[in-house]
Amino acid sequence: MIPLDKTGTDTTSNEINVFLYMCRPSLILFMTLMLQLVGCEWLTHPSLEQYSTLQKTPSPVTEDTLHVRFLGTTTIQVDDGQTAIMIDGFFSRPSLSRLALSFIAPNLASIGPNQERIIAALDRAKVNNLAAVLVTHSHYDHALDSAFVACRTNAILVGSESTANIGRGQGLHEDQIFTPRVNESLRFNKFLVDVFQSRHSPEPRFQGTIDEMLTPPASVSEYKEGGTYSYLIRHEWGTILIHPSAHFIPNMFDGIHADVVFLSIGSLGKQRTDFIRSYWREVVEATKPALVVPVHWDDFFRPLDARLVPMPFIGDNFTSGMDGILEMAKGSDTRVELWPAFDAFDIRKSDVRPRLQNKLQDKAEKLFTTVIYPQISCHTSHE
Ligand SMILES: [Zn+2]
Ligand SMILES: [Zn+2]
Repeated sequence: MIPLDKTGTDTTSNEINVFLYMCRPSLILFMTLMLQLVGCEWLTHPSLEQYSTLQKTPSPVTEDTLHVRFLGTTTIQVDDGQTAIMIDGFFSRPSLSRLALSFIAPNLASIGPNQERIIAALDRAKVNNLAAVLVTHSHYDHALDSAFVACRTNAILVGSESTANIGRGQGLHEDQIFTPRVNESLRFNKFLVDVFQSRHSPEPRFQGTIDEMLTPPASVSEYKEGGTYSYLIRHEWGTILIHPSAHFIPNMFDGIHADVVFLSIGSLGKQRTDFIRSYWREVVEATKPALVVPVHWDDFFRPLDARLVPMPFIGDNFTSGMDGILEMAKGSDTRVELWPAFDAFDIRKSDVRPRLQNKLQDKAEKLFTTVIYPQISCHTSHE
């Protein structure tokens, strides 16, 4: 006989429903992994096809201009031919099955920098003269490889105290780690970098700070957020805003101009329309760029030698996020482009509006104090 509760409902089917509800994420994850395994990624990932007109095609670039490479997630390399700056520097990109296992058995499936993948990516991106690795926050998909990249390239590691603890845990010398104060500018040759306190996209996992040295391999959950920064990279040939997480502090970019904004759309598609609109206004309309390049949209469980595809349905709602920002860009002076990984694009020629830039940068100069860094050299075990 089927047991009924006081309202006359079938309690057995209730329990089954609750069980299925609780198991749903695991079942979807399992199905996603299985479909990926048999090569049916078109069933697990949104298509890029409807955005084909936004996809930037590579063109020859002169290395002594201000050029930028998108390297997946929020990893970005900015280079003027003399000096380069890298954001985050995440190349290991552990697989989804590895991540899933790390939740079930953290001691067995911890993660660490994949040196082979990092070195291959640095070679392919022609990383020379790297002055700084600017870490946006300490979640593993941003900070996992940052210390190794800084060490290998003799760059300074810039980030929160949590990021500093990732650096220390990998043997970086204190001279090679810098934790900026908010509203501080860092000079690296012709680059001036303004540091903005920002906010992580809503409902982040692994909040809190990393309070002790973190030595890999470690569990994904040990890479706690540790505060989120945005970086404004100023150069005489153009100004680039890196906004790495889809949230904002109201008025945070008042009086600031950027020629190009690298705008995170990670998890933006899960937000309500009014949030997406406010996000666009606070970050893009406030800084008046000619160009917006969405970042943090690609499936970072896949290695970088594969073509970039959007996050799987299980992790995000890419289409909704993209459509949300395209709706806002419609009729404005700002165009949106999706960049492939590794190709360099010259951002100087078409995107600088000098008069407006000078006016706004005068204001920025007054807001920030400047710290100048000498060349440093690396003294860690990775050498
Ligand atoms: Zn994060
Ligand atoms: Zn992230």
